[in-house]
Amino acid sequence: MKRNEFIQGAAAVIAGNMLPNLSFAEESNKIGKIRFAYLTDTHLKAGIVPETGFASALHHAQSIKPKVDFIINGGDSIMDSLEADKQKTQAQWDLFHSVLKKENSLPVYHCIGNHDVWGWFVKENKPDADRLYGKVWVVETLQMPGRYYSFSKGKWHFIVLDSTQLNPAGGYIAYLDPGQLDWFRQELEKSKDKFVCIVSHIPILSICAGLFFNKTETNGDLKIQRNLMHTDFLALKKIFMDYPNIKVCLSGHIHLQDELDYLGVRYYCNGAVCGNWWSGAFQEFAPAYAVIELYDNGTSERKMIDYSNS
Ligand SMILES: [Zn+2]
Repeated sequence: MKRNEFIQGAAAVIAGNMLPNLSFAEESNKIGKIRFAYLTDTHLKAGIVPETGFASALHHAQSIKPKVDFIINGGDSIMDSLEADKQKTQAQWDLFHSVLKKENSLPVYHCIGNHDVWGWFVKENKPDADRLYGKVWVVETLQMPGRYYSFSKGKWHFIVLDSTQLNPAGGYIAYLDPGQLDWFRQELEKSKDKFVCIVSHIPILSICAGLFFNKTETNGDLKIQRNLMHTDFLALKKIFMDYPNIKVCLSGHIHLQDELDYLGVRYYCNGAVCGNWWSGAFQEFAPAYAVIELYDNGTSERKMIDYSNS
């Protein structure tokens, strides 16, 4: 941030009656932009801290100046339905809808997180026994067009992906299944006249993914686990090289924050609304959401907002 912009920003905060104010560097040089809030990893559950925390993040995002036009929900909306029974899953979704309806009036685009998938880790669940098993429930309850989909805003095309695939041997792995990968290629082919912003719950590329456990292996290796970053990164990188209009990749999942520039793509991992699952900060990162600006020249900027302390 340049010094004079900081001073202008500070003045605007005072003039704006202490409403949260953001000053993006070089903002004045970039004509035309899309501005939105990225709330990821809310992990909502019943309780005063999560419920008031989610409400205050939503209030903050709606009062920030300049205004944001919409919200992207990066996934893990609820605490967990992978291991929850039907009743507990229903209660979490009811709570999520009730807070969102009461506390938010902005349009929201949703992305599926691993914890939004129902029943994969419930032993007695059989895939065919209930039509809501797996991702059907989250897609229906959030009224998503599908588990992956796209939309356009101005000069930008947003592609929302579904990162989480079941590992039959246990757990889940981050990658695009073959059908989704075909669709993704077609989307890119159709949107060559726009800049592309990709949304995935699990990062496609992130150094945070290797820092999640806050330790190295005994031999000194830093491990990036297959459920913490896309295992198909190298394949996706090859595709990205054919489409220089892909400019931004947004993610969450790790509850840490980073910002990487790699081969012309800016990768932002956007912390967590719940921080350390509603127990304060996770490692160095307080509960937060991101404000993202996408400019008409294909550049972008992100600012993380510690919503409880600003
Ligand atoms: Zn996650």
